[in-house]
Amino acid sequence: MSIAENIKNVRERVNAACLRAGRDPKEVTLISVSKTKPVSMLMEAYEAGERDFGENKEKRPQIPEDAKFHMIGHLQTNKVGQVIDKVVLIHSCDSVHLAEKIEKEAAKRDMIANVLLEVNVAREESKFGMFLEDVIPNLKEIQAFPHVCVKGMMTIAPNVEDAEENRKYFKELYQLYVDIKNKNIDNGTMSVLSMGMTGDFEVAVEEGATMIRVGTGIFGSR
Ligand SMILES: *Cc1c(COP(=O)(O)O)cnc(C)c1O
Repeated sequence: MSIAENIKNVRERVNAACLRAGRDPKEVTLISVSKTKPVSMLMEAYEAGERDFGENKEKRPQIPEDAKFHMIGHLQTNKVGQVIDKVVLIHSCDSVHLAEKIEKEAAKRDMIANVLLEVNVAREESKFGMFLEDVIPNLKEIQAFPHVCVKGMMTIAPNVEDAEENRKYFKELYQLYVDIKNKNIDNGTMSVLSMGMTGDFEVAVEEGATMIRVGTGIFGSR
């Protein structure tokens, strides 16, 4: 299948998942994750109408200006300066320490950096991200940084055969998201839940994802 066909397929499945969950598909932003794929493939997705792209590195000067880049990979503190003004959202803010570095670099540029707190819901040793119980204390510390705005949370669920196994993790993160909003700990800034990838985005959408990050399902296997 072509990239355009893959995108159509993903979008149809998102729509069906929204229908099942009684949600409006407009609430769900599809982020195309190109990883190491060539720019020509990214352009195919662009031409099929996609505008949100997830990257691990800063890149893609060839892509038209209305494309939005999301930093989704692990971000080292020494790389913050290279990406901060090139992306609309950093999905991978996994510590207060990193947020502090983002604050410094954003202040230098007189800008506000939008971030998601990366949460390791399943507590996998191989993954980055804060544990669920650390999110609220960390959020409170990060809110003291005037140039960092926490827009929500992101998780990378375990790599499983059956997406249903990840439903519990998506539910847990959604529950925390709702708790934070209900207690108004977020000062009204939280509106994003970035969860769900090729193998499990339908379950994530059913459980409240507002952004899904799809690589293989659009660009083919790596
Ligand atoms: C690679 C990657 C994705 C996309 O993964 P697929 O399983 O290919 O859809 C999503 N999020 C992050 C953080 C990634 O690194």
